[in-house]
Parts: sequence; C-alpha cells; structure tokens
Amino acid sequence: MFTLHCSDADGKSVSLRYAPHESALTNMDGTPVLKGQASASSRIWEDAERISPQHPGRKLANPEVLKIQLGLGCNYTCSYCNQSSQVDSMAMTKTSDAHDFLRDLDTWLKGTPTRIEFWGGEPLLYIRKLEILVPELDKRFPDAEFCMVTNGSLLTPEILDFIARYDICITVSHDGPGQYRRGEDPFDDPRRAALLKALWNERKTGERMQFSSVLTPDNSDPALLRRWFVDKLGDESVVTSLEGVVATHDDKALAGPGVWTEEQYRSLKESVASSFETGEALRIPALREKAKSFLQSIVKGTPSSSTGQKCGMDRSDHVAVDLHSNVLTCHNTGANAQHGLGSALKMEDIRLDTSTHWAFRECCSHCPVLQLCGGSCMYLEGDQFAQSCENEYQFGLGVLDGTLRRALGLKLDRIEGDVRRPARRKVISIVAHA
Ligand code: SF4
Ligand code: SF4
Repeated sequence: MFTLHCSDADGKSVSLRYAPHESALTNMDGTPVLKGQASASSRIWEDAERISPQHPGRKLANPEVLKIQLGLGCNYTCSYCNQSSQVDSMAMTKTSDAHDFLRDLDTWLKGTPTRIEFWGGEPLLYIRKLEILVPELDKRFPDAEFCMVTNGSLLTPEILDFIARYDICITVSHDGPGQYRRGEDPFDDPRRAALLKALWNERKTGERMQFSSVLTPDNSDPALLRRWFVDKLGDESVVTSLEGVVATHDDKALAGPGVWTEEQYRSLKESVASSFETGEALRIPALREKAKSFLQSIVKGTPSSSTGQKCGMDRSDHVAVDLHSNVLTCHNTGANAQHGLGSALKMEDIRLDTSTHWAFRECCSHCPVLQLCGGSCMYLEGDQFAQSCENEYQFGLGVLDGTLRRALGLKLDRIEGDVRRPARRKVISIVAHA
C-alpha cells in the first residue's frame, strides 16, 4: 500500500492510498476515488503464469501471436539496440529456408494465429524471404493480421505495393529529433522521405501505420516528438507512438544512452506528465493506452496475480520462431545460445526457462507503477535489469502523475511507502588532474 501525496489546482495537499496488487485507489478514509470502482475479490480473474528458471513456461502449438524472426541483421547500428548482444547467437538462415519453414509449419502449427509478426533486425533486408512467406501465409491464414516493425530506410515503390497488397500493418521505428542515436535519418534523403510519406498516405486509413520512438535521455518529450513527425509529414493526424523508454541490454547501452542523470529523469517525468494536461498524450497510443488500462485496472479492481509481463512473451500463446523453426525466448534473441528453447516441431518439449516473471523480483512486488510497467524485460538480470528497471520506473512515475493530473486534477508530489529499488551500478566520473 502506498500513499500518493498530491496537490490540487489551488496547491492544497490531497493524499490518496494506492494498492497496486489489488488495484485499489482510495481516499485516506477508504472511500473509492473513481466511480464504479470494484474490489479485487468481486470478479473472477485468470492468473498469469509466473514463469522463472525454476518454474519454466510452456509454449502452445496454436498461438494467438506468431512472431517470425527473419534474421537479426540490420543496416543500422542503434546505440542502444536491444538485439546487438544477440546477433552472434543468431542461427543463420537462407532465403530458401523460408520454404522449409512453411513446410514445417504445416506439421506443427494448429489453428490460426490472430496476428503474425515479421521481425528483423531490419525485416526489409530480408525482402526475398518475405516474398516467399507472406503470400503463402496470407493464403493459409486470410484472417490473420500481418505486422512488421521497420526502420523505414529500405522502402522502394515495389515494397510499398507489397505492403499494400498484403495489408501489412507497419510501425516505423524512428526517434524523430533523436534519430542520430540510431543512424542516418531517412527523412534527410528526399527520395526516402517521399517513400515514407507515400507509405503513410497509403496506410493511414484504418490505422495501418504509426511511427514509434524510444525515449532516451536527450529525447524524452513525447509532445515534441509528435510535433517533429507532424512537421515532417505535413499531416496533423500522423500517429506517433512510443516503443517505451530505453532499456539496457548490453554494456554499450549501460555506458551511454541507457543511463540518465537525475535532471534528465526529472525532465522525462515532467514532459510525460504535462503531455496529459495538454491532451497531447491522448494522441500518442502508447501513453493513452497505458493511462486507460491503469484507470481500468482501478475500476475493475484488477489483481496483480493476473498481470503478465509487458511484452507478452511470458505467455504460452505468444510464440517466437526463426526460419529453422527454433523457438526463441523472444524475437529479439538468437537460437544458438540460451534463448534457443528447442524446436517448434516438438512444442511439447519447449521450456521457457530463460526468464523471470516480475512476481519473483522483490522490486516489482514493491513498486507503485507495477500496473503501468509490467516488469521490464523478463530475461535481463544484474546491472542490465537494474538500469532498465530504473528507466521504466521514472517513466512510469511520469505516466502515473499525468494520469492523475488528467483524471483527477491532482499533481503527484511524492510517494510514501515500502518502495524497494534494485541496486544500480554506481557511475563514477573520472576527473583528470593536471
Ligand atoms: S519499474 Fe522496475 S520495479 Fe517497477 S514493475 Fe517495472 S521493472 Fe518492476
Ligand atoms: S523479452 Fe520482451 S522485453 Fe525483453 S527483449 Fe524480448 S520482447 Fe523485449
């Protein structure tokens, strides 16, 4: 149970009690804050499976979400890439392996996935594989939604036609004004910029495309990010979302773009929170959905026992495979090391023993933003987890504050309670003496 110390528009102090495990938000006298608020015990909830190396998860042969890893190669070298530490463990696949993959799929996949995602690296580097996979999967699963995340730098008119023909839902991963942390900006090249605009104009109807950014220490204002894309596209309706806040998957990210100063955290929290006051956050799907599901969790009294990991890869009905039908911890990992879980052809033998559900982490069980975060990356440990968790925590505080500002007109000043944070590596600045 935490006490949220807030102030109202007149500067008057208002305190609320918040219990993240019961999703209960009450006034200090115990009365509910939101209309229609239920208690956790008033509904029946399905428990999320709590996986860990000691309690490995399973994978189903009839997944809702099928993630196909085409290869981890990329034409960019983003400074905080969450895949770069995995590239050496990728099982190499050739274009012709796409045929073998489709043949094997017939033997192991039962039912129809609701969504099929195509993942790189940069998936458009593997357009020849996509040209084999997509038409055939479309034939077999006409009702499945196809999705792809691309950096948008390799588009051609032919690829635009291909995307339209198979109605692929596109996320262009781009950091707007902070793009230099990823590499060159396709918007700086008139030909590529024109293709991105053409893609947006063709895909925008029916919400089939969005731009999505990672918040980094020097690029953490969602409203400024949105404005940047509006200016580039010349379209006020452009959909810009967030992949989230930067995580630290390797020492390179821990040595630079994944580590924030206290001032940068303050600025992140304020820009996120104030974007809810101005209404900008409501135009940014990732922020809008986080706030909405947080408020819904309170209204419904969602118990934390039903809360899985934020990415969903702890679930048995989310399956990531490469073109050799190797089952992976997630699409960001390679099969030739610990994240290769076995073959989809023997799905009953798969054990997800590489990851840890938030419930087994002390900090998450004592975290006021648990319902907004969902536990950061489930396979990170040590310094990489601790720094990623801190970034998520500060981002979560910004969203919590923003949601309270928007829904209740209250500013979050501080949180009192048994908050436990993981110990982070100390950054010691080295000063040269003459
Ligand atoms: S912010 Fe950190 S402690 Fe809180 S839920 Fe996320 S990963 Fe766990
Ligand atoms: S386990 Fe989930 S959060 Fe971690 S890298 Fe994979 S998809 Fe991302």
